Amino acid sequence: MSRVLIIGAGGVAGVVVKKCAMLPEYFSEIHLASRTVAKCEKLQAEVGKDRVVGVYQVDADKADEVADLIRQVEPALVINVALPYQDLPIMDACLATGVHYLDTANYEPKDEAKFEYSWQWAYHERFKEKGIMALLGAGFDPGVTNVFTAYAAKHYFDEIHYLDIVDCNGGDHGQAFATNFNPEINIREITQRGKFWENGEWHETDPISVREDLDYPNVGVRASYLLFHEELESLVKHFPTIKRARFWMTFGEQYLTHLRVLENVGMTSIQPVDFQGQKIVPLEFLKAVLPNPGSLAEGYTGLTCIGTYVTGVKDGKEKTIFIYNNCDHSVCNAEVGAQAVSYTTGVPAMIGASMMLQEHWMKPGVWNMEQFDPDEFMERLNKYGLPWQVVECESPFKR
Ligand code: NDP
Repeated sequence: MSRVLIIGAGGVAGVVVKKCAMLPEYFSEIHLASRTVAKCEKLQAEVGKDRVVGVYQVDADKADEVADLIRQVEPALVINVALPYQDLPIMDACLATGVHYLDTANYEPKDEAKFEYSWQWAYHERFKEKGIMALLGAGFDPGVTNVFTAYAAKHYFDEIHYLDIVDCNGGDHGQAFATNFNPEINIREITQRGKFWENGEWHETDPISVREDLDYPNVGVRASYLLFHEELESLVKHFPTIKRARFWMTFGEQYLTHLRVLENVGMTSIQPVDFQGQKIVPLEFLKAVLPNPGSLAEGYTGLTCIGTYVTGVKDGKEKTIFIYNNCDHSVCNAEVGAQAVSYTTGVPAMIGASMMLQEHWMKPGVWNMEQFDPDEFMERLNKYGLPWQVVECESPFKR
């Protein structure tokens, strides 16, 4: 039985639904639920009722509501592509009903930007006892970058020492300022303090203060800034030989200027303010006035390049490899009507789900992507739209 319940109907969910719909051999039946049922109905109309057989309204902040829906649909797996705030209620619902779980981003409390796995890892024993599995962070970064690291460790090194994950969006959507995935989560991630792992401890940096100009294959040189990203936490735990792990993301000057102004005037704050007798969270309001990331696909040009530099030792010699994918915004739009950031997240979520349902990756408990054998997942990336390359190279980092 390979019936899935997908929760969320935003940019990433659109890709997951369409990719799952193309693969009846992995996903016999798709059910789709979200806060706004009209968005589910729209996706159902695009894909066809024969593939998305049921649509439902659900408030996934409420574990009981999700559990009731799971009892009604009886899926083998819940694919959570709503927001990180819903991770724990959906995991609670999976525990209550004995159904497997997958997501693409770690749980976030509403009132503080944390980006850490502690809450979800705390479910490990309960999932194990119940005989169900949770796969965490099955997007691109986290997700594919974790699998790239596991693949490098398995096939190219005896021991891995230095890890630099790089995320470049070399595309142009023609808007003055927009985020490529949920603006609230994206801006929370970028405006928090930077953090990297070195010699057994975390080191903090001011937000967007450490820069390297990196040359990305098929994109060119782009200013790249050190950020904290959640996969660093699980990777340094699961690969204890790592001496230093960092994450870099590209931002253009125009984007950073807008972000600075918004920050300076208080629009990126997650602390509620009083406005005409109501409590309003500035960042939530900002989200409401920014372009919907799903609407950026039309006319979006250029490539993304996301990958992992790994330096380590093989047969006593140090070497560096870069594993990466290039993804073209316009090709994604032609295939599934999405931009590349949604696509590079949705395709791995679909592949992760297929790996679980076919029991390539299946063990009770709560797991990160690098804890499984990477080979079949890497094959499926090539097969389902995210082909990757491996090159041996010099480390491009100055420090
Ligand atoms: P969107 O904002 O486009 O979509 C989120 C969807 O979740 C919307 O349909 C929204 O409903 C729904 N939703 C929100 N709250 C609830 C609720 N309480 N109950 C039910 N549904 C709810 O986000 P994206 O598609 O851009 O992102 C989806 C997820 O993917 C996020 O968790 C994001 O962090 C993650 N992500 C991961 C990446 C990776 O590489 N690992 C990269 C990019 C994103 P409504 O339409 O009513 O607002």
